[in-house]
Amino acid sequence: MRVVLDHSIVGQSFTSLSIRKDREFAGCAICGRVFQARLAIELSDGEWNADALLFEHAVAIETKEWRERHNKSHTQREHEAFRASGRTFSPEAAYKLAPFGLVSLDDAQEDEVAAAMLEAPRAPSDDVETTLKGWV
Ligand SMILES: [Zn+2]
Repeated sequence: MRVVLDHSIVGQSFTSLSIRKDREFAGCAICGRVFQARLAIELSDGEWNADALLFEHAVAIETKEWRERHNKSHTQREHEAFRASGRTFSPEAAYKLAPFGLVSLDDAQEDEVAAAMLEAPRAPSDDVETTLKGWV
């Protein structure tokens, strides 16, 4: 079992960062790219709640498609090396995900990962990858 602390993004209200952490999103444990379906980002709470089950389902499908497509952007060797490391996040991913409020407690005792999280900016430097499928 892996333990990941998921907390809010420090100062998010002062940025133009487009992510809704109260809705489904995905992050890559190898490179730290973050994805959230545009539907999840753009719908107001009122719009979302009007048909939440449908929107949750649509976002889940799009997120799954992103995961499958993104996984192919890494070589088999990268996947194997990451699995062999036994880590929750690579140091690169830990650096990028920590500002999004995602911290692996299991990796925090490894010097390389701990240093990456310590040196990570307090606010995300990369915006969220998203797509538009015409559902909005
Ligand atoms: Zn990746």
